[in-house]
Amino acid sequence: MFLTISTTGSGGAPATDLGFLLHKHPEKTQIFSTSYGDAHVFYPEASEQRCTAALLLEVDPVALVRRGKGRGGAPDSALAQYVNDRPYAASSLLAVALRTVFASALKGVCNARPERAANPLPLRIAIPVVPARGGAALVRRLFEPLGWTVEAEPVVLDAQFPAWGDSRYVRLVLEGELRLAEALRHLYVLLPVMDDAKHYWVSPDEVDKLLRMGEGWLADHPEQRLITSRYLARRWSLTRQAMERLELARLAEADDSEPEALDNAVDEEVDTEEKPVPLAVQRRQAILTALRAGGAARVLDLGCGQGQLVGELLKDARFTEIVGVDVSMRALGEATRRLRLDRMGDHRAARVRLMQGSLAYTDTRLKGYDAAVLSEVVEHLDLPRLPALEYAVFGTARPATVVVTTPNVEYNVRWETLPAGHVRHADHRFEWTREEFRSWTGQVAQRHGYDVRYVPVGPDDPEVGPPTQMAVFTTTAKEAVA
Ligand code: SAH
Repeated sequence: MFLTISTTGSGGAPATDLGFLLHKHPEKTQIFSTSYGDAHVFYPEASEQRCTAALLLEVDPVALVRRGKGRGGAPDSALAQYVNDRPYAASSLLAVALRTVFASALKGVCNARPERAANPLPLRIAIPVVPARGGAALVRRLFEPLGWTVEAEPVVLDAQFPAWGDSRYVRLVLEGELRLAEALRHLYVLLPVMDDAKHYWVSPDEVDKLLRMGEGWLADHPEQRLITSRYLARRWSLTRQAMERLELARLAEADDSEPEALDNAVDEEVDTEEKPVPLAVQRRQAILTALRAGGAARVLDLGCGQGQLVGELLKDARFTEIVGVDVSMRALGEATRRLRLDRMGDHRAARVRLMQGSLAYTDTRLKGYDAAVLSEVVEHLDLPRLPALEYAVFGTARPATVVVTTPNVEYNVRWETLPAGHVRHADHRFEWTREEFRSWTGQVAQRHGYDVRYVPVGPDDPEVGPPTQMAVFTTTAKEAVA
């Protein structure tokens, strides 16, 4: 298993700076032991103009078998445990070696040449044999969106028998101007994705690792779903979790994409693999359905956060007035930027407004709307503040329809990455069981003259219920007439 990383001198800096960036001296040959064999690092060339570092992993097939994870060939064949492609083809084992050997470089840490680490370099990465399920075309779909020029040539099964066709291996050369840390992270994630046979058990902390390594590029990658699901060895609960967190990260990052483009990217069928729709997307769909059913045109999004639901509402012309309210100026600033409120056409802009306000205080500006949404908001208030919110929304603003969503804490046992007893978000002051939610919403409805019905959002688990619980309040008929 072999890979080379080359760079040329640029901007007056010598190519041999690569040694500083990788924390490996160009004049030395070094050996590192990994769980699967020895990794050698050496420099076949090291001049001011051009410098190449090579990583050679000598996989020890016996160590692989001892660890019980030898794969390749027919899984049930005893021989295949020993005779397989692992020693030769760059797979997830090489990714592990990359992380072991180039840990600091992956983090982008370089005290000796910080400016070189922080800036793109002309890079060329060559891997002679990569197993690629999906072939050269998939390899291009994985690397090209990241700014690489990709040369992926299928390796024929046997040169003497061309009729046998191509093997599942490709020879891969990547060229581009990227930061070294970025390039290494691409490889770390995408090597096992191409291989699609992760050799080790995928534990929930792999989600953290994936998000760390994918920071800055995975959230916007058009093949995000395929990458996530293959990286996590198709464990759907983990994949779903990772995609939700990516969506949150994407919201948090400065991001100029049109909300529409983002949502389409999420919903697009890119592969025949199973595609979990992120919970946040399902939640917005359920909310829109409830609002449409209530015939609402003028809608409040209370605790609108970064404006994703506002963006969805804008797409449907029946919503003629949309007001997002949040206590956080930062969230509102982000929403303004994401929705491109300042650059929106007048016609559209006239339908939407964002304002700062706290739901813990009565606010007469909120009176007179058809509907209000509290999506994943109540759990952000301290329990003793809830009566104030109740009075502000149900007592004073009094829209005909109120949609409230909140996590169902019973479902938390189904999130594999959530340690027992933890809430889903650090800022959640509480999370309710289904019964607790029904009790609060039932009392609110009774106190303020509303009917309430419940809608599960996400897979409705027979034992623990759905991940999100939603209550739809409508003013009782008598009130509506009055
Ligand atoms: N509704 C969005 C965001 C949920 S996060 C969604 O479903 O994705 C919760 C939001 O509620 C945050 O943006 C937070 O700033 C806001 N929030 C918390 N307490 C609030 C209060 N007292 N008044 C108004 N907004 C509040």
